[in-house]
Amino acid sequence: MQTLKFAVLPGDYIGPEVMTEALRVLEHVAKQDGFALAYEIAHVGGAGIDNHGKALPAPTVKLCEASDAILFGSVGGPKWEKLPPNQQPERAALLPLRKHFTLFANIRPGLLYRELIDASPIKNERIPEGIDIVCIRELTGGIYFGQPKHTTELPCGDTQAVDTKVYRKSEIKRIAQVAVDTARARKKRVCSVDKANVLETSVLWRKTVTAFFAKHAPEIELSHMYVDNAAMQLVRSPNQFDVILTENMFGDILSDEMACVCGSLGMLSSASLGTGKNSLGLPFGLYEPAGGTAPDIAGKGLANPCAQILSAALMLRHSFGLEKTAARIEVAVRRAVTSGVRTADIALGGKSVGTRAMTDAIIANLT
Ligand code: NAD
Repeated sequence: MQTLKFAVLPGDYIGPEVMTEALRVLEHVAKQDGFALAYEIAHVGGAGIDNHGKALPAPTVKLCEASDAILFGSVGGPKWEKLPPNQQPERAALLPLRKHFTLFANIRPGLLYRELIDASPIKNERIPEGIDIVCIRELTGGIYFGQPKHTTELPCGDTQAVDTKVYRKSEIKRIAQVAVDTARARKKRVCSVDKANVLETSVLWRKTVTAFFAKHAPEIELSHMYVDNAAMQLVRSPNQFDVILTENMFGDILSDEMACVCGSLGMLSSASLGTGKNSLGLPFGLYEPAGGTAPDIAGKGLANPCAQILSAALMLRHSFGLEKTAARIEVAVRRAVTSGVRTADIALGGKSVGTRAMTDAIIANLT
């Protein structure tokens, strides 16, 4: 019997609430499909600070290193907002985790079911079938990590800040491969987003992506778009995209815009894949909901568990090779939601259920 060894980092506020539900779903499918779960839970984010004095405590990193994947909740919130920026839960836990495991590829599905189109700020007639796109964002390069990065007091009395954007061809090629793999399982279309009319890094990005696709994936339809236009097109007509491929900062902004056009953050999952392989020879990855810790609804049993449950499905697919089980979870979430069982964020003014009842409906649909 296959045993899945993964680290569970629930995080803060609604993090532990929705994680409990994702684990219930995993326990259920494990029984149905005949595999075992061997997970351990560790503190991260604010919980790390409160229990170990650090957002990313050493025992948590050790547990992750000994695991085949990380199922992550979300971190941060008002309790820790007064800490210096470099000790804040998000910056001091998530960024170092990404760097430590070279989690260079962020895969974020932008999925809006037809039945939920009223949750989108976009006019219904522009998305009659809902939305189904994927954003592939490079996660460990670009302006967030480039050096030098500093603020200097100038002799003239002014203050100057510098961030540096750096990309290597090798970094661009490895994220292009992820876009190719994703597009092959979808409609075989990739739109690469850059700012090649202004930025050197984007010129290299475009040249490298073009050559990579020509050599390794001639069957995939590749197009290019400037980021300012992409931001506009995502709102005008999101389904013109199949797979969006882009660099770190553009992806940060576009993937949040995509989450917004898809309605509730409570429905969107994400996978961050590393260069390393796990003990099964599959990609080591971190799987987390697109949203944050939702302090406004924490502790009330109102949070939508779907994003966390769908993140667990991504973990089964990418890090454990359990495609059928992953797809079954995705179908069960869709069936539960379309049957009318909905948490308040997607109830569109209608009747709503709490976190646990939403999960019960998903489990009931796991056939
Ligand atoms: P948020 O995503 O937590 O919340 C934004 C809105 O979406 C809120 O109204 C919230 O109630 C709603 N929402 C989010 N997830 C939901 C869910 N599962 N079910 C129902 N509603 C949901 O964003 P925020 O309020 O800007 O941030 C709160 C905290 O989360 C901050 O400390 C922020 O730094 C942190 N954060 C963490 C991550 C992460 O860990 N990856 C990501 C984003 C924000």
